[in-house]
Amino acid sequence: MATIEFLGAAGTVTGSKFLVESGGRRLLVDCGLYQGLKDLRRRNWGRLPVDPSSIDWVVLTHGHIDHTGYLPRLVNDGFRGAVYATRATVDLLKILLPDSGHLQEEEAAYHNKRGTSKHLPALPLYTAEEGAEAAGRVTGVGYDEWFELAPGLRVSFKRAGHILGSAIVTLEIAAGSARRRLVFSGDLGRYGAPILPDPAPLGEADYVVVESTYGDRRHEAEPIAEQLARVVGAAVERGGAIVVPAFAIGRTQELMYHLSGLEKAGRIPRLPAYVDSPMAINATEIYCAHPEDFEGDMRAMVMDRNCPLHCGDFRLARTPDESRAINEVSGPVLIVSASGMATGGRVLHHLKQRLPDPGTTVLLVGYQAEGTRGRRLLNGEATLRIFGDEVPVRARVDAVHGLSAHADADGLLRWLGTAARPPDRVFVVHGDPGPAATLAGRIRKELGWRATVPAYRDRAPLGGGDAP
Ligand SMILES: [Zn+2]
Repeated sequence: MATIEFLGAAGTVTGSKFLVESGGRRLLVDCGLYQGLKDLRRRNWGRLPVDPSSIDWVVLTHGHIDHTGYLPRLVNDGFRGAVYATRATVDLLKILLPDSGHLQEEEAAYHNKRGTSKHLPALPLYTAEEGAEAAGRVTGVGYDEWFELAPGLRVSFKRAGHILGSAIVTLEIAAGSARRRLVFSGDLGRYGAPILPDPAPLGEADYVVVESTYGDRRHEAEPIAEQLARVVGAAVERGGAIVVPAFAIGRTQELMYHLSGLEKAGRIPRLPAYVDSPMAINATEIYCAHPEDFEGDMRAMVMDRNCPLHCGDFRLARTPDESRAINEVSGPVLIVSASGMATGGRVLHHLKQRLPDPGTTVLLVGYQAEGTRGRRLLNGEATLRIFGDEVPVRARVDAVHGLSAHADADGLLRWLGTAARPPDRVFVVHGDPGPAATLAGRIRKELGWRATVPAYRDRAPLGGGDAP
C-alpha cells in the first residue's frame, strides 16, 4: 500500500518534504531547507531519514527556498533521480539555488573568521556552484497536463497563484482498477490578488495536503492600493526618500504593479523610482518571459511586452556603481531594495544613508520576524545597528498590510471547498502549531472532513477508506 511520510513542514512553516512510497518507488514532493529556529536548521545538516540514492523522483511545487533549497544537498548526498517543476520555477531556481549556495558560503566564511563554529574549517551546506548544478537537473513541465513518472504513477501541475511558477500538485497512483489521488496545495496564493490568477480548483482528491501559514488569520480588509496611496502621499509631503525593503521575488513585482497603477490614475505623483536589486530585476524578466502563468488582461499585456510590472519611470540598478549613484538623488524618490526584513542586501546601504534624515519614510511591506532590523524599525527603536555603526532613526516608519503571497484562513477554506467531493483525509502542514491546529479544527467543523496535523516523521497509509 502507498504511504506518505512527513519529513518537513510538519508543525512548522519551513523544510517542506513529503515522501510518497508506492510499489517500491519513492517520490519526494518538495525538497525544502529549514529556516529560522536553530533546532530546525540543524536538521539541514543531519542525514535525511531516507537514503537520497533510493529516491526516484522529486517534484517541486514552487521556487521558494523553504520548498527547494535542500535539493543541492540531496544531490550531493547521492540522489540521481529526475526532478520536475513548472517552466517558470525552473528559471527562478537558476537564480535562487546559486544565491542560496552563495549565502551558505558567506555564513561559513563568517564563522571561520570569528572562530564560532565547532568545525574547522566550517563548510557551507552547499556552494553556489552546487546550487547551479542542482538547478540544472530540473525539468520544466507545463500546467494542466498529466506527465507519467512510471506506469500507474502520474502528476499534474495547476496554478496556485502564490508566486510565479507556483503549482498545486496532483499525484495519481493507480494499481489495477484502483486509483487514488493525492493533492498538495503547495503554498496557496490569495483570491482576487493582482498579477497572478486565483488558485485553481482542487478537483478530485482522496487525500489533501494543505498549507496553513495563515491558518488562524484574516488579511487586512483595506485594499492595498488605498493603503499605498495614503502612505506614499504622506511620504511625498515629507519631501525625502521612500525606502522600501522588499523580497526580490513576488513582493517587489506586486509593489511595482500597484505603484504604476496609482501613478497612471494620478493618485500619486510620478516619482523617480529605483529597483536596486539584481535578483529582483532578473526575477521581473522571468515574470515577463512566462505568459503561461497569467490569465486574461495580464497575459495579454505580458505577451505584448507591455508588462505593468515595469512602472513608468522605474530605473533599474544592477551594478554596485549604479546602486551608489542613488545616494546622490535628493527630494522624493522611491528606492525598492532587498532584503525584505533588512537582514542583509543592498537596502542596508540605503537605510544607513537615509535613516538619519527626518524627511525619509521607510515603508515596510511584508512580515518582519522577531530579531530583524525590520522588526526593530517597526518597534520604533531610536537607533539601528548597520555595518557596525549605531545609525540614528529620524525617518518615519510606515507599514502596509495585504501584500502577502499566502491565502488567509478563509482563502484556504474556500480552496478546500472547491474539491469535487469530500476527501478521505486532510493533512494540515506548513504552519506553526497554533495556525495549523486552528485550520484543522475549522476543516473538521465547517466542512465535516477528517483533518489532522502530522508531526515530523509521521507516516500515513494512502489506502482505500481504511482508517489507520
Ligand atoms: Zn512559498
